[in-house]
Amino acid sequence: MAGSEAAWQAAQAGCPVVIHEMRPQQGTFAHQTGNLAEMVCSNSFRSDDSEQNAVGLLHWEMRQAGGIIMQTADEYRLPAGGALAVDRDPFAEAVTARLHAHPLIEVESGEITALPEDGQWIIATGPLTSAGLGAAIATETGADALAFFDAIAPIVYADSIDMDQAWMQSRYDKGETEEEQKAYLNCPMTKEQYEAFIDALLASDKTEFHEGETAGYFDGCLPIEVMAERGRETLRHGPMKPVGLTNAHKPEEKAYAVVQLRRDNKLGTLYNIVGFQTKMKYGAQTEVLRMIPGLQDARFARLGGIHRNTFINSPRLLDDRMRLKSRPNIRFAGQITGVEGYVESAAMGLLAGRMAAAEIAGRDLPPPPPETALGALVTHITGGADAKTFQPMNVNFGLFPPVDGLKGGRRGRKDRYKAYTDRAKALWSDWLATQEVERA
Ligand SMILES: Cc1cc2nc3c(=O)[nH]c(=O)nc-3n(C[C@H](O)[C@H](O)[C@H](O)COP(=O)(O)OP(=O)(O)OC[C@H]3O[C@@H](n4cnc5c(N)ncnc54)[C@H](O)[C@@H]3O)c2cc1C
Repeated sequence: MAGSEAAWQAAQAGCPVVIHEMRPQQGTFAHQTGNLAEMVCSNSFRSDDSEQNAVGLLHWEMRQAGGIIMQTADEYRLPAGGALAVDRDPFAEAVTARLHAHPLIEVESGEITALPEDGQWIIATGPLTSAGLGAAIATETGADALAFFDAIAPIVYADSIDMDQAWMQSRYDKGETEEEQKAYLNCPMTKEQYEAFIDALLASDKTEFHEGETAGYFDGCLPIEVMAERGRETLRHGPMKPVGLTNAHKPEEKAYAVVQLRRDNKLGTLYNIVGFQTKMKYGAQTEVLRMIPGLQDARFARLGGIHRNTFINSPRLLDDRMRLKSRPNIRFAGQITGVEGYVESAAMGLLAGRMAAAEIAGRDLPPPPPETALGALVTHITGGADAKTFQPMNVNFGLFPPVDGLKGGRRGRKDRYKAYTDRAKALWSDWLATQEVERA
């Protein structure tokens, strides 16, 4: 996805491109064909609503930028209500044919196993990056900056948390500044609430692990339901321990368990539930997590999951032009940068392709404004997210700077989203127009 879009954008900007693709000689467990832009699982690009949905806005922005992935998806669209579903084989065949036919694009078959020393490169090898290249990336970045699994704790919109029940406090008030001493958001539970929560967790629908999928990540990040299976008290001694915390609303009451949330972005619009990585099915997650006092009306920017994935610690490793700080001739794009999903991956390819082409032409292309969908995503992965807890992210309105003067909460949501998308569209159009002028 990302590599195809990056190549297209760079070539359309007049820059010769070579795509290196290891398939079909070397396959992955998920890909079935040798086509570029293969959709490995679902055939959906999700919501196509550019007024009320962040991924729909991403579609709109990519269409305005002449993106090959969106143009081709539109041609092979299948009926799916408000979603953009795609006829996957003809879609991938058409993207592949277009890239092969472009006069400035060459496609070379074969695996890349080392980080190239010179030339301009974009690494967009995705969640199933080959082992050889993964090893080369780990050598360059340090093994701790490259992950082979994601372990995603659910992320909640800050404005959907009930602060009449939750309070801000770090355990034992640790930290030098008041901000650090109040870095966590705490949700208290009584014994009855805890027991009911454990019952629901144990009874919930879970996604099965595939064979071999658990190897290598189980130690550091057990899913909460697996912890609960090991003993009803395990969570209370783990991520839900109540020690070092005093309920600001009821100081005399000692909580039996406490769920902690930590800020997930600099804007403070998103909070992740600490240590709550889970394989519960999405429907079950919302039901079970809303049992947590303070989260009864929670809206989720993303739900938890654990998957085979490959991604670098972008906030630490990449500059805002998506270049590896230690080797600026190499950019990263797609899922390997820590975005999640076909559309987000292609979007990061679009930016990387444009930025590389601009650099080769002697121009500097700054990232799009953070108020746009592509800008919000790239700003998040290259600095908005906390490097220490970085996990892959879908596009969502929690990544956007708030629009002043609008009502928060569920009621004002429609107007708020419309204001976000109107603002984004104007700024995205300006960002594109500036490039047209510079190229001319
Ligand atoms: C099992 C699975 C299911 C998924 N389901 C969904 C889903 O339903 N919906 C969704 O939106 N997202 C899904 N994803 C995530 C999905 O993979 C990404 O959203 C998207 O494909 C990522 O785009 P990308 O361009 O970063 O990587 P990819 O589309 O995977 O492209 C990377 C390409 O690099 C090639 N490559 C890898 N290593 C090398 C190398 N060393 N040299 C040369 N070529 C190499 C690969 O063959 C591949 O063609 C799923 C991922 C997995 C693993």
